[in-house]
Amino acid sequence: MDPDGARSPSSEASARDARRQALRDAPVVLVSACLLGEACRYDGRSQRSERVLAALDGKSVVPICPEAAAGMGIPRPPVDLSGGTGVDVWAGRARALTRETREDRTEAFQDGARLALDAARRFEVPVALLKEKSPSCGSQRVYDTGVLRPGEGITTALLRADGRTVVSDEDL
Ligand code: SF4
Repeated sequence: MDPDGARSPSSEASARDARRQALRDAPVVLVSACLLGEACRYDGRSQRSERVLAALDGKSVVPICPEAAAGMGIPRPPVDLSGGTGVDVWAGRARALTRETREDRTEAFQDGARLALDAARRFEVPVALLKEKSPSCGSQRVYDTGVLRPGEGITTALLRADGRTVVSDEDL
Protein backbone atom coordinates (compact mmCIF):
# COMPACT_ATOMS: atom_id res chain seq x y z
CA MET A 1 0.00 0.00 0.00
CA ASP A 2 1.13 3.58 -0.55
CA PRO A 3 1.13 6.16 2.28
CA ASP A 4 -2.51 7.22 1.80
CA GLY A 5 -3.68 3.62 2.13
CA ALA A 6 -4.43 3.07 -1.56
CA ARG A 7 -3.20 -0.14 -3.18
CA SER A 8 -0.74 -0.06 -6.04
CA PRO A 9 -1.97 -1.44 -9.39
CA SER A 10 0.24 -4.53 -8.96
CA SER A 11 -1.07 -5.33 -5.48
CA GLU A 12 -4.64 -4.77 -6.75
CA ALA A 13 -3.97 -7.29 -9.52
CA SER A 14 -2.52 -9.88 -7.16
CA ALA A 15 -5.43 -9.44 -4.74
CA ARG A 16 -7.85 -9.97 -7.63
CA ASP A 17 -5.93 -13.07 -8.73
CA ALA A 18 -6.16 -14.44 -5.19
CA ARG A 19 -9.93 -13.87 -5.14
CA ARG A 20 -10.32 -15.59 -8.51
CA GLN A 21 -8.29 -18.55 -7.26
CA ALA A 22 -10.41 -18.79 -4.11
CA LEU A 23 -13.50 -18.90 -6.34
CA ARG A 24 -12.00 -21.62 -8.53
CA ASP A 25 -11.17 -23.69 -5.43
CA ALA A 26 -14.56 -23.29 -3.72
CA PRO A 27 -16.94 -26.27 -4.06
CA VAL A 28 -19.88 -24.16 -2.87
CA VAL A 29 -20.43 -20.44 -3.44
CA LEU A 30 -22.87 -17.89 -2.03
CA VAL A 31 -24.08 -15.79 -4.98
CA SER A 32 -26.06 -12.57 -5.38
CA ALA A 33 -29.39 -13.88 -6.65
CA CYS A 34 -29.74 -11.05 -9.19
CA LEU A 35 -26.58 -12.30 -10.98
CA LEU A 36 -28.25 -15.69 -11.42
CA GLY A 37 -31.27 -14.12 -13.11
CA GLU A 38 -33.58 -13.48 -10.16
CA ALA A 39 -35.58 -10.27 -10.73
CA CYS A 40 -34.82 -9.03 -7.21
CA ARG A 41 -33.10 -5.69 -7.86
CA TYR A 42 -34.55 -2.51 -6.41
CA ASP A 43 -36.02 -1.71 -9.84
CA GLY A 44 -37.60 -5.15 -10.22
CA ARG A 45 -35.05 -6.34 -12.78
CA SER A 46 -32.36 -9.00 -12.72
CA GLN A 47 -28.66 -8.63 -13.43
CA ARG A 48 -28.15 -12.06 -15.00
CA SER A 49 -24.51 -12.54 -15.95
CA GLU A 50 -23.35 -15.24 -18.33
CA ARG A 51 -19.79 -14.81 -17.01
CA VAL A 52 -21.03 -15.50 -13.48
CA LEU A 53 -22.96 -18.57 -14.61
CA ALA A 54 -19.89 -19.87 -16.45
CA ALA A 55 -17.66 -19.31 -13.39
CA LEU A 56 -20.09 -21.35 -11.28
CA ASP A 57 -20.22 -24.31 -13.65
CA GLY A 58 -19.90 -27.54 -11.63
CA LYS A 59 -20.21 -25.83 -8.24
CA SER A 60 -22.96 -25.88 -5.65
CA VAL A 61 -24.66 -22.48 -5.43
CA VAL A 62 -26.41 -20.80 -2.51
CA PRO A 63 -28.41 -17.85 -3.92
CA ILE A 64 -29.08 -14.90 -1.64
CA CYS A 65 -30.60 -11.45 -2.04
CA PRO A 66 -30.04 -9.81 1.34
CA GLU A 67 -32.44 -6.94 0.65
CA ALA A 68 -35.32 -9.12 -0.53
CA ALA A 69 -34.62 -11.63 2.27
CA ALA A 70 -34.98 -8.83 4.80
CA GLY A 71 -38.44 -8.05 3.44
CA MET A 72 -37.64 -4.78 1.70
CA GLY A 73 -39.85 -5.68 -1.24
CA ILE A 74 -39.44 -5.80 -5.01
CA PRO A 75 -39.36 -3.17 -6.36
CA ARG A 76 -38.14 -0.94 -3.55
CA PRO A 77 -36.70 2.57 -3.29
CA PRO A 78 -32.98 2.75 -4.17
CA VAL A 79 -30.67 3.15 -1.19
CA ASP A 80 -27.20 4.69 -0.87
CA LEU A 81 -24.75 4.44 1.98
CA SER A 82 -24.28 7.75 3.77
CA GLY A 83 -21.18 8.67 5.73
CA GLY A 84 -18.97 5.74 4.76
CA THR A 85 -18.89 2.11 3.65
CA GLY A 86 -20.41 -1.12 4.97
CA VAL A 87 -17.58 -1.38 7.51
CA ASP A 88 -18.53 2.08 8.77
CA VAL A 89 -22.18 1.05 9.04
CA TRP A 90 -21.29 -1.85 11.37
CA ALA A 91 -19.12 0.55 13.39
CA GLY A 92 -22.06 2.96 13.72
CA ARG A 93 -20.40 5.70 11.63
CA ALA A 94 -22.59 5.44 8.51
CA ARG A 95 -26.18 4.70 7.55
CA ALA A 96 -28.18 3.29 4.64
CA LEU A 97 -30.65 5.92 3.41
CA THR A 98 -33.19 5.93 0.58
CA ARG A 99 -31.83 8.03 -2.26
CA GLU A 100 -34.84 10.30 -2.71
CA THR A 101 -36.40 10.76 0.72
CA ARG A 102 -33.42 9.91 2.98
CA GLU A 103 -35.38 7.38 5.04
CA ASP A 104 -33.17 5.24 7.25
CA ARG A 105 -33.04 1.59 6.12
CA THR A 106 -29.90 0.66 8.06
CA GLU A 107 -31.47 -1.95 10.32
CA ALA A 108 -33.17 -3.74 7.43
CA PHE A 109 -29.86 -3.85 5.53
CA GLN A 110 -28.14 -5.29 8.59
CA ASP A 111 -30.92 -7.90 8.92
CA GLY A 112 -30.35 -8.91 5.30
CA ALA A 113 -26.60 -9.19 5.89
CA ARG A 114 -27.18 -11.43 8.92
CA LEU A 115 -29.41 -13.70 6.84
CA ALA A 116 -26.66 -13.96 4.21
CA LEU A 117 -24.14 -14.83 6.91
CA ASP A 118 -26.53 -17.43 8.37
CA ALA A 119 -26.76 -19.07 4.93
CA ALA A 120 -22.97 -18.98 4.48
CA ARG A 121 -22.46 -20.67 7.83
CA ARG A 122 -25.24 -23.23 7.37
CA PHE A 123 -23.87 -24.40 4.02
CA GLU A 124 -20.20 -23.91 4.99
CA VAL A 125 -19.58 -21.52 2.14
CA PRO A 126 -16.01 -20.19 1.98
CA VAL A 127 -16.52 -17.76 -0.92
CA ALA A 128 -19.25 -15.35 -2.01
CA LEU A 129 -19.61 -13.98 -5.54
CA LEU A 130 -21.53 -10.73 -5.22
CA LYS A 131 -22.77 -7.86 -7.37
CA GLU A 132 -20.50 -4.83 -7.46
CA LYS A 133 -21.63 -1.30 -6.43
CA SER A 134 -24.62 -2.48 -4.38
CA PRO A 135 -25.00 -1.05 -0.84
CA SER A 136 -25.40 -4.67 0.31
CA CYS A 137 -23.30 -6.74 -2.09
CA GLY A 138 -20.61 -4.33 -3.38
CA SER A 139 -17.08 -5.42 -2.53
CA GLN A 140 -14.75 -2.95 -4.26
CA ARG A 141 -16.88 0.16 -4.83
CA VAL A 142 -20.12 1.47 -3.34
CA TYR A 143 -22.16 4.66 -3.60
CA ASP A 144 -21.77 7.04 -0.68
CA THR A 145 -24.42 9.76 -1.01
CA GLY A 146 -24.47 9.42 -4.80
CA VAL A 147 -20.69 9.26 -5.28
CA LEU A 148 -18.97 6.00 -6.18
CA ARG A 149 -16.07 5.38 -3.80
CA PRO A 150 -13.79 2.51 -2.81
CA GLY A 151 -15.25 0.20 -0.19
CA GLU A 152 -17.72 -2.59 0.44
CA GLY A 153 -21.41 -2.97 1.14
CA ILE A 154 -23.08 -3.99 4.39
CA THR A 155 -23.40 -7.71 3.61
CA THR A 156 -19.88 -7.94 2.21
CA ALA A 157 -18.43 -6.30 5.31
CA LEU A 158 -20.15 -8.85 7.55
CA LEU A 159 -19.08 -11.85 5.46
CA ARG A 160 -15.47 -10.61 5.42
CA ALA A 161 -15.51 -10.03 9.16
CA ASP A 162 -16.49 -13.70 9.50
CA GLY A 163 -13.44 -14.73 7.45
CA ARG A 164 -15.12 -15.37 4.10
CA THR A 165 -13.71 -14.29 0.74
CA VAL A 166 -15.93 -12.00 -1.34
CA VAL A 167 -15.37 -11.96 -5.09
CA SER A 168 -16.88 -9.22 -7.27
CA ASP A 169 -18.71 -10.03 -10.49
CA GLU A 170 -16.30 -7.48 -11.99
CA ASP A 171 -13.35 -9.69 -10.96
CA LEU A 172 -14.37 -12.25 -13.58
S1 SF4 B 1 -27.06 -6.71 -5.53
FE1 SF4 B 1 -27.48 -7.99 -3.74
S2 SF4 B 1 -29.11 -6.93 -2.63
FE2 SF4 B 1 -29.03 -6.05 -4.70
S3 SF4 B 1 -30.55 -7.20 -5.88
FE3 SF4 B 1 -28.58 -8.23 -6.15
S4 SF4 B 1 -28.55 -9.79 -4.56
FE4 SF4 B 1 -30.14 -8.34 -3.99
